[in-house]
Amino acid sequence: MESILVSGGAGYIGSHTVVALLEKGYKPVVLDSLVTGHRQSVAKDVPFFQGDIADSQLVRKIVEQEQISAVIHFAARSLVGESAEKPDLYFEENTAKTNRFVSTLLHCGVKRIIFSSTAATYGIPEDIPIPETAPTVPINPYGFSKLMIEQSFAWLEKAYGLEWIALRYFNAAGAVLDGSLGENHQPETHLIPLILKTALGQRKEIGIFGTDYSTPDGTCIRDYIHVLDLAMAHILALEALAKGTAKGVYNVGTGSGYSVKEVIETARRVTGRTIPAVESPRRPGDPDRLVAKVEKIESLLGWTPRFSSLEQIIESAWAWHRSHPKGYGE
Ligand code: UDP
Repeated sequence: MESILVSGGAGYIGSHTVVALLEKGYKPVVLDSLVTGHRQSVAKDVPFFQGDIADSQLVRKIVEQEQISAVIHFAARSLVGESAEKPDLYFEENTAKTNRFVSTLLHCGVKRIIFSSTAATYGIPEDIPIPETAPTVPINPYGFSKLMIEQSFAWLEKAYGLEWIALRYFNAAGAVLDGSLGENHQPETHLIPLILKTALGQRKEIGIFGTDYSTPDGTCIRDYIHVLDLAMAHILALEALAKGTAKGVYNVGTGSGYSVKEVIETARRVTGRTIPAVESPRRPGDPDRLVAKVEKIESLLGWTPRFSSLEQIIESAWAWHRSHPKGYGE
């Protein structure tokens, strides 16, 4: 059984990927600081280390003790707004610490890494859908903190033979289908969980951030991708990297976009609840549209989304929110 180190394995996308790894017969080993992750989101029998990716001694110990052959690296800060207020925090936590982490891994002989990147590396796209070859001009420090790592990997590949795939996520949403794992951010800022908290009566209303964008209904369009499909993209990336059939940057999205108003409408239908919405000012840093071009990941990794219709995403997220109104309850 191949041991895979999952940094940030107690986070939202990480915890769902740990489940997918177990299903595929891998042995996941989790390293998470629990600054934003939840211990309860990782099964008790999965080896778990609480600590920092920049703690080289700890990373070395895990790699040797658990005989790690590859890494899926999720651990990071991921709030765009926070990154604009504290860019230095993002450059330290996401960029500097990842560099230390990867450097330690390379010194221990671990060369294969799947990296969580983001559509925020593109900034305001010129073309929709966005191909991986589009210019990368991030408009927030979060996107920049991830782009620097992607670019550093090309140099580490040259110098040390790093084998890497960076997955540029579009909008991750949804939950495992039985509602036992889900999205639990503190504070929550994402559209779908906030809509569902409104449906549960935990919030009075959902604000629609901007209704004057150049889209058909005036609200922003995003490409929502089910977290289980995202998890599967990591497994396929691991396999392709091991076989040497793929490397570099891949978008992970569906190729279809939905507006904020369409998401709210769909949530009303799925939940049967009213969900009051109010038109609100734009949120700084939001491009009109972010929709992935997905031919590359489909053809080179053989990946295709299975759970990512907007209905399925919202149904699974609704199952989670209804059964866990207080999240993981910490
Ligand atoms: N959004 C909104 N109201 C909210 C939260 C988000 O209208 O309370 C909008 C946001 O402006 C963006 C879309 O929903 O256009 C998706 O935002 P989210 O924060 O979920 O993801 P992001 O696109 O920032 O990664």
